[in-house]
Amino acid sequence: MRDVVVIGDGYAGLSAALQLARSLVDFEVVGRSTPRNILSARSHGVLGQDGANPAQLIERGVENLSSYGATVRDDLVSEITTSADGFIVNLLSGASILTRKAILACGVTDVLPQIMGVEEKWGYSILPCPYCHAYEIAGARMGVLASDRNSVLTAIFLSTWGPVTLFCNDEDFDTSWATNHFRLRSIEVEYSKIASFQGEGSLLENVLLHTGRSIQIDYMFLNTGTKLNINSLSCLGLTMETVSGKTRIVTDDRRQTTVEGLYAIGDIVRFGHNITWAIADGVTAAIAAHQSLCLDLTRVSR
Ligand SMILES: Cc1cc2nc3c(=O)[nH]c(=O)nc-3n(C[C@H](O)[C@H](O)[C@H](O)COP(=O)(O)OP(=O)(O)OC[C@H]3O[C@@H](n4cnc5c(N)ncnc54)[C@H](O)[C@@H]3O)c2cc1C
Repeated sequence: MRDVVVIGDGYAGLSAALQLARSLVDFEVVGRSTPRNILSARSHGVLGQDGANPAQLIERGVENLSSYGATVRDDLVSEITTSADGFIVNLLSGASILTRKAILACGVTDVLPQIMGVEEKWGYSILPCPYCHAYEIAGARMGVLASDRNSVLTAIFLSTWGPVTLFCNDEDFDTSWATNHFRLRSIEVEYSKIASFQGEGSLLENVLLHTGRSIQIDYMFLNTGTKLNINSLSCLGLTMETVSGKTRIVTDDRRQTTVEGLYAIGDIVRFGHNITWAIADGVTAAIAAHQSLCLDLTRVSR
């Protein structure tokens, strides 16, 4: 029986594992080292690691763990069920781990819009977040693919870094409240449906509209839908929330879910996503789990 199993070895999971190692907790981390931004050449806005390659950042995290004698179990979790003492974590390999507490850190998968060209350009010239990417491309011709009211705000904020066109893609939502912002910030608005994103390989050069018109754009920002990387969690009785195609697990401020002893961290608990928040969540949940274990009179503690 383990004290804690960390499910996922991205930024959130490794951060939790580091705190658990330092707290002398008997734990295990499971995952496949595939952080969500693995496609990108660089991660931005991470203090002390600004511009680091995502795979190298994760490697450094694993090295930090190994200095405490901890390793990552190369496997995936297929199912988690509750047991009398905590949880049973079933792995794809067929193995099972019994644990008192579990920290879910499995991340999310982006659900991209069905527009030709989007998949090969995602992470390169079609991007999720101005705060992660806009500084490096300042002055380029940028677009925002609108999906809801937040996309109008994204267009306004993004214009800090250069000229912006908001593509409404034939969706019927109100932009009239932002007319003055558009005028003051020279934001163009295109209402027609998009036919495809054009350009060689991962490069974006033009947005082709169904009307036949083509607009030169170098980078497009879009708010993807997301789905959790483990889809068999509903039987646990977790409380989930879905807004605009994004789902998150609801937690308290110590990152405990509505299931006692089960914590959730990183992208799976948020609608806005960022490495620093994921790392911070890992610290929060690991400390909460350690303190809860210390207060558990049924467990012989150090
Ligand atoms: C294209 C792109 C670029 C980005 N660039 C930046 C940036 O520059 N700066 C920034 O701050 N943020 C950036 N982000 C956001 C950032 O990637 C996420 O916020 C961050 O990865 C979330 O960390 P996480 O630990 O929650 O999940 P992830 O990093 O996605 O890690 C999840 C881990 O869980 C593992 N896993 C998945 N399923 C299972 C399972 N069933 N069992 C066990 N393990 C499992 C995976 O192997 C993976 O290692 C970017 C996002 C995207 C999409």
